[in-house]
Amino acid sequence: MGYPSMVDQIDRIFRIIRVIHRVLEVCELSPGVVLLRLSREGLIFQAGQHLLLSLPGSALAREYSIASGTDDPWLDVLIRVVKGGAFSPRLARLRPGQEVEVSGPCGFFTPNSDPGMKVLVATGTGVAPFRSFVRSGLVQGAALAHGVRFLNETHWFHDWHPCRYVRCVSRESGGDIQGRVTDWMARAVCDIPDAQWWLCGNSVMIQEGWDLLTGAGVHPERIHTEVYF
Ligand SMILES: Cc1cc2nc3c(=O)[nH]c(=O)nc-3n(C[C@H](O)[C@H](O)[C@H](O)COP(=O)(O)OP(=O)(O)OC[C@H]3O[C@@H](n4cnc5c(N)ncnc54)[C@H](O)[C@@H]3O)c2cc1C
Repeated sequence: MGYPSMVDQIDRIFRIIRVIHRVLEVCELSPGVVLLRLSREGLIFQAGQHLLLSLPGSALAREYSIASGTDDPWLDVLIRVVKGGAFSPRLARLRPGQEVEVSGPCGFFTPNSDPGMKVLVATGTGVAPFRSFVRSGLVQGAALAHGVRFLNETHWFHDWHPCRYVRCVSRESGGDIQGRVTDWMARAVCDIPDAQWWLCGNSVMIQEGWDLLTGAGVHPERIHTEVYF
């Protein structure tokens, strides 16, 4: 086994340093989905990176994508509150003024300058890093396909031009597509063969999306993924 790379070593160092941030706001955006706004404390990050959050006095920690822009004066994270989950319900119960321990930033799901249209595909709270992309001014002209169960889960649709935001709603009508986001991908991949694909969310969507795109001839270098597991 070789030595860990410099990047791996830096990543590990950041993971063990925890900095206290204060809760500024907790807001329920839809049933079971909460926006947690934290003080910035000078943290520098790239759009698309995530943080490791924990609570003072507890060893439990979980990853959350940063949903705010690189120039915003605070840090936003978008949390799906998992019923029976060990950590996310505790985050959702926080109140302004309370403390959260933050490690990071971590990760490499950051936009590149490669040519070609960027197509962003999210399920649920997987939209969080894409909100950071757009608030950081990095993805003008990109399309976002957002897979949700119900229409009221399409948070932040106003950040996108209506022509470039596709709501794929699986459990009710009224979206742009009734069905899963991978149904939309299967059609779109034929229309935009040279696109760069960015997929974020649950592992089922990422696996199906990957298979679908590579099966349609998209080179793996043009597919970027962030799995929430
Ligand atoms: C790089 C990365 C970034 C992430 N970013 C985000 C983010 O921005 N927002 C966010 O909400 N989550 C995000 N996650 C997931 C998050 O880290 C936690 O796994 C999630 O909040 C569940 O934690 P928990 O302790 O409440 O549940 P756990 O106690 O860990 O899990 C309880 C059960 O719920 C299942 N479960 C876990 N997550 C989900 C889910 N999302 N939906 C349904 N069932 C689930 C587990 O498989 C398990 O069976 C990210 C994960 C990774 C790896």
